[in-house]
Amino acid sequence: MSEGYSFLVDTSKCTACRGCQIACKQWNGLPGTQTKNEGTYENPLDLSADTWKIVRFSEGSSKDGAPFWHFFSEQCRHCLSPGCMAEVENDEIVQDEKTGAVLFTPKTSKLNYKVTRDGCPYDIPRQDPKTKRLFKCTMCFDRITNDMVPACAKSCPTGALVFGERPKILEMVKDRVQDLVKKYPKAKAINPEDVRVIYIITGEPQQYWKLAAGR
Ligand code: SF4
Ligand code: SF4
Repeated sequence: MSEGYSFLVDTSKCTACRGCQIACKQWNGLPGTQTKNEGTYENPLDLSADTWKIVRFSEGSSKDGAPFWHFFSEQCRHCLSPGCMAEVENDEIVQDEKTGAVLFTPKTSKLNYKVTRDGCPYDIPRQDPKTKRLFKCTMCFDRITNDMVPACAKSCPTGALVFGERPKILEMVKDRVQDLVKKYPKAKAINPEDVRVIYIITGEPQQYWKLAAGR
């Protein structure tokens, strides 16, 4: 496989505007979800067959009492060795050779949903209750194979989402972490060798989202 593509997700630049979440819905023609106020800024509350990208909000205080307020633009990580593919026998899920995108095909309706979802260390796959087909982020495969960046990266107004060739993104990740540790000693990239969607965080993973670093 070629080196393919990757994302840098710099959570220190994220303002939780949710532009990426909406751009994902718009480009992929996904319907809005009826929601109600559950006492959190997250809306909707979780990923679904119709929501492939969601901005997680997390607030609290550290062991030393310092408050934190973190945002985490959640999506499929497009793993290099995808755990969701463990049960695949007939191309229900495929990994594109050129881009590295992990793609759920219509044949995912034949997969065992629980096994596929449990196989993902980040709890990403979701099932359409009617068709039984599984869904998640496609890396905007139709855009990236036509010389466009994914809709989320295109929409991000702060530069928190950057998409590009994997070697360049890995260099950018390294440089950005080196910069951030001067101000945030805990700054780090999460599992950069294992995933194509590489999050940079400035605190502990559990301060962002329960599955930020994988199970
Ligand atoms: S994050 Fe989960 S769904 Fe996405 S490629 Fe990795 S294992 Fe599969
Ligand atoms: S578009 Fe960028 S700044 Fe806005 S929520 Fe998404 S990652 Fe954060």
